[in-house]
Amino acid sequence: MDPLIEGYRKFRAETWPMEKARYESLAHWGQTPEALVIACSDSRVDPQTIFGAVPGELFVVRNVAALAPPYEPDAGYHGTSAALEFGVRVLRVARVVVLGHGQCGGVKAMAFGPPPQARDFVASWVEIGRPAVKAAGDAPEGRLARIEAEVVRLSLANLRTFPWIAEAVSAGRLVLQGYLFDVHTGVLASVGKEGLTPVE
Ligand SMILES: [Zn+2]
Repeated sequence: MDPLIEGYRKFRAETWPMEKARYESLAHWGQTPEALVIACSDSRVDPQTIFGAVPGELFVVRNVAALAPPYEPDAGYHGTSAALEFGVRVLRVARVVVLGHGQCGGVKAMAFGPPPQARDFVASWVEIGRPAVKAAGDAPEGRLARIEAEVVRLSLANLRTFPWIAEAVSAGRLVLQGYLFDVHTGVLASVGKEGLTPVE
């Protein structure tokens, strides 16, 4: 049994009849998502589930450690930056959300080095997080949690290096928000300049 095909059959039998009109409308009018979410590829941290969103509401890009890279318009394969360009400049989303999380394997790779089998790409990708690791300091108590929060702050700072994001933010057309999701408790916390504030 292929669990994906089983899931698809359930979707067609149970979800599709209820959601048919929504999908048809989205197909006819196109998408106008409210937010672009940068989330981790981690299978436990699905933005659509956490934010209770329906199809058409969230434009999601997922990568290792929910990182926003700095603005580097060169010939590299910038998947996350391409999603940002499309979401912000074409779809004109109202907010960009960085959704980090606890127990993040990507953050562990930043702190302790990537697993030996993941050096072709993960090693250079998590280099983006180097300033966050530095900002979190060396004190062992709670170090990973501090890095997780600093990674969200770093991604928000990197987003502001994209000229059309900075411009949209200063014109009041775009809001940048950072959150951390605790997989163990299911609690979402907003990441401020100093600390974390659980969302009520
Ligand atoms: Zn992660």
